[in-house]
Amino acid sequence: MEFETHCDTEAEAVVPKEPPKIYRLEESVVNRIAAGEVIQRPVSAVKELVENSLDAHSSSINVVVKDGGLKLIQVSDDGHGIRYDDLAILCERHTTSKLSTFEDLQSIKSMGFRGEALASMTYVAHVTVSTITKGQLHGYRVSYRDGVMEHEPKPCAAVKGTQIMVENLFYNMTARRKTLQNSANDFSNIEDLLKRFSIHHTNVNFSLRKHGASGADLHTVGTSSRLDAIRSVYGVSVARTLIKIETSDNNPSSSVFKMNGFISDSNYVAKKITMVLFINDRLVECTALKRAIEIVYAATLPKASKPFIYMSIILPPEHVDVNVHPTKREVSLLNQEVIIAKIQSVVESKLRNSNEAQTFQEQVVEPSPSGNIGIIKDSSFSSSPSGSKSQKVPVHKMVRTDSLDPAGRLHHYLQAKPRGPLENNPSLTAVRSSVRQRRNQKETADLTSIQELINEIDCNCHSGLLDVVRHCSYIGMADDVLALLQHDTHLYVANVVNLSKELMYQQVLRRFAHFNAIQLSDPAPLSELIMLALKEEDLDPECNENDDLIEKITEVDWEDEKRCFQVISAALGNFYAMHPPMLPNPSGDGLQYYKKRKPIRNPEDIEDDVTIEDEMEHELLSEAETAWAQREWSIQHVLIPSMRLFFKPPASMATNGTFVQVASLEKLYKIFERC
Ligand code: ADP
Ligand code: MG
Repeated sequence: MEFETHCDTEAEAVVPKEPPKIYRLEESVVNRIAAGEVIQRPVSAVKELVENSLDAHSSSINVVVKDGGLKLIQVSDDGHGIRYDDLAILCERHTTSKLSTFEDLQSIKSMGFRGEALASMTYVAHVTVSTITKGQLHGYRVSYRDGVMEHEPKPCAAVKGTQIMVENLFYNMTARRKTLQNSANDFSNIEDLLKRFSIHHTNVNFSLRKHGASGADLHTVGTSSRLDAIRSVYGVSVARTLIKIETSDNNPSSSVFKMNGFISDSNYVAKKITMVLFINDRLVECTALKRAIEIVYAATLPKASKPFIYMSIILPPEHVDVNVHPTKREVSLLNQEVIIAKIQSVVESKLRNSNEAQTFQEQVVEPSPSGNIGIIKDSSFSSSPSGSKSQKVPVHKMVRTDSLDPAGRLHHYLQAKPRGPLENNPSLTAVRSSVRQRRNQKETADLTSIQELINEIDCNCHSGLLDVVRHCSYIGMADDVLALLQHDTHLYVANVVNLSKELMYQQVLRRFAHFNAIQLSDPAPLSELIMLALKEEDLDPECNENDDLIEKITEVDWEDEKRCFQVISAALGNFYAMHPPMLPNPSGDGLQYYKKRKPIRNPEDIEDDVTIEDEMEHELLSEAETAWAQREWSIQHVLIPSMRLFFKPPASMATNGTFVQVASLEKLYKIFERC
């Protein structure tokens, strides 16, 4: 302390100062200081926003980031939304829907509880919230500054859920902004965070995109298997090395907990440990546990001592103190030492076992009888301890991309045009999220006829194609109906019209009697519409005899229940199939269709004609471009992902040209070797 310093003889005499006066800080200053602590970097804001979306029971969470999060962080979810009446206090400090008494903290399951995150953001950034709650016709949008609304909420169009936009983060904290501007890590920190969330919350779809970028940097589709989720996010090379691990204890005198997870084996070699830890579904860090595991690895697998760990620990909520860290990053556990020791010992025994019997995977290619399709099966066997430890993929089996490792997807290279506006198209987003909501549909009609039809689909499913469908990556469109799909080392062309038709047929049957009804305010004149449609279809417009029409409508066999449902489902399948848009595809030869016709004029005006000939029908062209781009978007983001989840490809598709294998890396290598 200043006036206690006794210096050398040369030092000036220190004059004791008056004690400084203590002031009460202004609330805005207090709030801004607190905010700087809660929101330390862009990634802390993303974490708070995503946790709010998870607390709101969302099944789809999309994050868009600009300039590492400093310019913009936008998190959109399809959760329960925020009530209109709550918007006024939403961003005040200590307003929350998750807690009311201190004791609630003991049993709290939600990730948030302090009611500080949104408030903090409004003190260091510009925050805009758009939200809609169930049953409302429209949503509301409102912006906040320093905890309060800047204006009354304005009605706005909205799909399900909430979208929060945080702009110009730390605009009023120059020093913080400057240090962050110099760091290139913010985007990768955000990506890392979302990867972690996505492998734990496997029933939620996450996406992360740089503002203005054509594709997502991270895009996960919900899956029921944790290992699949890890594979799709961290890549096959990581997933392949993982060992399942679990343990539990239920002894109140020592510890009560359950743990499960995956740990890497000796084949995973990295510079840094990756530890994804969830305690009671909260993404947290626990340095003691991390150190303890590192020690086991260093002792057991010195060459692979920086492991990949995913671990989920569940304890009685009252055994966890969630309130020990300002950003809730660390938690403290009751009986922490006992729990850590138990986990350490299972990790150790798993590693020892895995070191003794290594599992290798080899891919066997079996040509199908038709010769069209290579069926790929995975076979696992244990090697002798003297067997090679390296699992390096031979060069002729290396692929640039696979469905589970989206990095380097060829598709991105094929997209010349920016596709920003489409990605933001709310109707497409709505399609995507509604597809996802149906993901876990289990209910089917309990009608025998429907059950029989579904059984037929299941029995008729081609297992090789099923594998292709489940694990393929979309590469791009080869022409108007054929998509290029990559599966492992093979390239296929697949007919999207056939595929979508059959997929819809199967979906109609599986969801039979569970479609959402659409209430029209004015009932549609059904019979008139049917007449119109039939007349339209009719080649002979004169023939409008009622009898004819009635006969056409009754092509459905109304007498036999099974036949009837089958025909109706097939008709719906056909209706929803992804036929090419009516307008010719402007990216190919179809472009000429949009050139303005050369007007016939007198021959002296030749020059004029030339310029006119080059002019395009811009409106029509842009309509066509949108239609084609939307279709391709739907193929990539709706058709292929839903196929992976639901589709049972019938055996006929292996031979009727729906799937055709066009290249196989192994064969190409053989050809090159001969050259
Ligand atoms: P906390 O999460 O600690 O309650 P926040 O400041 O993060 O505090 O959020 C305040 C409140 O706003 C939450 O309790 C919740 O009711 C509501 N909220 C915030 N984000 C969302 C969201 N994405 N969806 C629905 N409600 C939300
Ligand atoms: Mg919160």
